[in-house]
Amino acid sequence: MPQPPKRSNPTQPEQSTGPEVDATAQTSTSQTSSEPIDLISFTTEAYRNVVAATRNCNAFPQGAARSLYLSYPGYARMLEEQSQRVLGLINKVLKTENISGDIKRRQGDEQLEMVQECNDILFERITTNLDIISGLRRGNPHMVVETQVDVQSTSRAATSTITKETPRAGSWNRYSTAPGTPSRSMVSARLFTAQNIMRPQMQFKVPVDNSAQNPFKPRLKEKPNSLKPLALLPEYDDAGNVVSFLHPYEFELLKFEPPKEQLQKQKPLLPAPPAQTELMLVDSVETLKQALEELRQAPQIAIDVEHHSYRTFMGITCLVQMSTRTKDYIFDTLTLREDMHILNLVLTDPKVLKILHGGDLDIEWLQRDLSLYIVNMFDTHRAAKALNMARLSLAFLLKHYLDLDVDKSLQLADWRMRPLPQKLIDYARQDTHYLIYVYERLTNDLLQAEQGQPQALRMVYQMSTEVCKKRYTKPHIGPDSHLDLVRKTKRSFDNRQLSALRGIFVWRDATARQEDESYGYVLPNHMMLQIAESLPREMQGILACCNPIPPLVRQQLHTLHQIVLRAREQPLVKPILEACNNITGPVLLQTTNKDYNSKLNCPHDFSHQEETRDDLPTLLGRNETGKLQRPSKPRLEAPLVPLVAPTLSLFKRQTASTQEEQLRWVRARKESQTMRMPYKRYMAILPLMQQQKLEQTAKENNELLKRRLCPAEPAPVNIKLEITTKEEEDPLYKLPLKEQLKRKHQPTADQPSLAKRNKNEEKPSASMSGLKPKIKSEPIPAITQTSNGEDSEDDDVLEVPIEKSATENPTPVLSRRQQKRQEKNKRFKAKERMQAQSSNKPVQLPTNTATAQNFDYKNVDFRQFQGGAKRAQGTEIKSQIRGKSRHNNRNNKQFNKLFTFSKINKERKK
Ligand code: AMP
Ligand code: MN
Ligand code: ZN
Repeated sequence: MPQPPKRSNPTQPEQSTGPEVDATAQTSTSQTSSEPIDLISFTTEAYRNVVAATRNCNAFPQGAARSLYLSYPGYARMLEEQSQRVLGLINKVLKTENISGDIKRRQGDEQLEMVQECNDILFERITTNLDIISGLRRGNPHMVVETQVDVQSTSRAATSTITKETPRAGSWNRYSTAPGTPSRSMVSARLFTAQNIMRPQMQFKVPVDNSAQNPFKPRLKEKPNSLKPLALLPEYDDAGNVVSFLHPYEFELLKFEPPKEQLQKQKPLLPAPPAQTELMLVDSVETLKQALEELRQAPQIAIDVEHHSYRTFMGITCLVQMSTRTKDYIFDTLTLREDMHILNLVLTDPKVLKILHGGDLDIEWLQRDLSLYIVNMFDTHRAAKALNMARLSLAFLLKHYLDLDVDKSLQLADWRMRPLPQKLIDYARQDTHYLIYVYERLTNDLLQAEQGQPQALRMVYQMSTEVCKKRYTKPHIGPDSHLDLVRKTKRSFDNRQLSALRGIFVWRDATARQEDESYGYVLPNHMMLQIAESLPREMQGILACCNPIPPLVRQQLHTLHQIVLRAREQPLVKPILEACNNITGPVLLQTTNKDYNSKLNCPHDFSHQEETRDDLPTLLGRNETGKLQRPSKPRLEAPLVPLVAPTLSLFKRQTASTQEEQLRWVRARKESQTMRMPYKRYMAILPLMQQQKLEQTAKENNELLKRRLCPAEPAPVNIKLEITTKEEEDPLYKLPLKEQLKRKHQPTADQPSLAKRNKNEEKPSASMSGLKPKIKSEPIPAITQTSNGEDSEDDDVLEVPIEKSATENPTPVLSRRQQKRQEKNKRFKAKERMQAQSSNKPVQLPTNTATAQNFDYKNVDFRQFQGGAKRAQGTEIKSQIRGKSRHNNRNNKQFNKLFTFSKINKERKK
């Protein structure tokens, strides 16, 4: 080595043991891998060599001794030769790792850098291999990536809803961390996807038609169970263009009547758990035919669909799940896309009941991709709605009827993954496995709700049949679609910005159709609005609006830039003039009768803006000098509508007031003029706060009850209203403070309600003082998504570091080591923040209310409350200040400052 490590003593005894300890540690960890013997012997051998080499290196003379030895030409030559040899060996290794440059020609520092770079690459390969060995990437041609996202609990957006991401992948030893608790109205979902998934649309036998001109056309070739023969009837617009096609089973659905047995009471049969139920994975035509034969025997079939909508324009049906009473089926609809239609034999059979949960989209997806239609459907979502259930999700129904807690977090998984991971199979199964049982229970509940009459049940069938009549239509944009977006964001755009937005909108639509990608993938809305709003002059500015930069934006940056530049060139039109133009302009009138872009229709107040003119014609006339004339007499002599006198008036005096009212006024005035000590005010507000809390608890209990016994009559709420008014004038307040406290905290016979309430509360003082407004209420069942303030606070803290580290961000290419270092820093910072947060929290006092109530104030030494200055002069405080607790130091310093300051003041006074 040219630069041997400098050590004072070349033969340190512990040097030989040091690396050997490491070696044994290494061998013990490597024992867990798949080839233990080879790896152990290899690493042991390697370590032995490394230790020997290090020892030999260290044995060379160093420092002054080295200079002395080098003066011998023989030694110098030998050293030079060996150095060159070692460098040659290192160079070979570097070349195999594609590190450019010749190490022999570099200086010492640069040589070290090259070796470090090589090490980084090697380490990265090692961790990747460990990932594979640990199972994260085993058996799967593509790397599975799991990320956590928060999505709105109710929305079911067509495009991607990736809002926040929590990297959970990339580190093989962190994949088992528990997912965070969902926050208030958001649901945490796991984005279960994989890198380098083959685009399934490449394999489609019939390529997708994303064009805007051609409407979606059903591809049905046969029509089993038909009452009318198959005919794809087009519908035309005024100009004679085909705009859509009629539903192939429209007539059959019109004539459909639910069979008698479906309108009768059912005998619910609890299904065996999935583990004990047969599962058929249908991914070939043979198995499909077999499944069809089996399904034909079933009187009821539960159906669900899994769909992908991010890397496609119209969406792709990836999976169809079906369940009979005894068997579950999972159809791989990526491979069976062109064959699934044979299932129409059962799906359109009016004698076979199909059960779906919220099947609106499923119906559209089935007909669009698989030419599947459904006749005779029972939608459990509609049924739950008809029953006025507290919640309408499948998860809720499963909880309600089967007491099952299902995990819906994999809903947004990338269902294109093949082979389908076991996790996804298990998840997909549970969506239909229990659905027949849920249908039976819902039917019985619907019958019971109408005293055995089937009206409500019929209604559900009618609504479900309407769902079956839904027709798929392609997404399309109108000339004003971009305005909807602006309206939603509540931003105000000028004509240049709007022009840019329209241009980008059209570009995005065309690109998405052509590339078969979703709008969300091409350019998410928020980035599009950002570009249109900032109108960047440079190409770089467009990229700056996007983080991460969508690949298609990068690819077509030039086109986008041209759109923005063209918009920038337009003369800026004053908004109010533009509004006038719009009113007379024929283009906008034809599409929408209200232009929200116009300042006339915009709900915002623009009067403060310079452009707003005040010289527009009004209904008021002008006199000779051009001044506005006031109308000579009011237009309406007598009001057409009987007017009601205002209940409150600033200027009018109430003429007649009753004695009682006057008394009340006097009392109120007196009340407002008397000075009240803060504690008295606190005591006065106490009953009101308690009542509010009681109401809140009652409401929550009620809610809880509703959820449990659904539908249920409202729980009896026992609220005592009179307390507030009575205690307002309580003679108690006239007593000295000490006496008041004493009486308040001694439960007496005539104050039973207060004592009772205190018992229920954890700590009245903390809850009332407003320091900590949100207090953990009683346990809520797992299905509720509401969380208290504390939890959400914690969530925020936990999510911050996670949010910032976006795994998808393609720009920074960091080595594994650097990433790890960063991660470590982030984790450390998050921890710090959490600690800071927790220290900010108000201190929880012991919640023993009994002792609080029986507290004897006679034992209190009230002299202790004589302010801090007196005590501060003593030694105890000072000794505390000099104590070890560092985080108090700053506070103490401030306190000291104050203290000194007050001392100075005192001295000045003297
Ligand atoms: P499910 O009926 O719950 O199994 O959902 C069926 C499909 O609907 C899923 O495969 C998703 O593609 C889609 N989906 C459900 N919920 C959402 C949502 N919140 N956002 C976007 N897509 C959703
Ligand atoms: Mn579904
Ligand atoms: Zn599903």
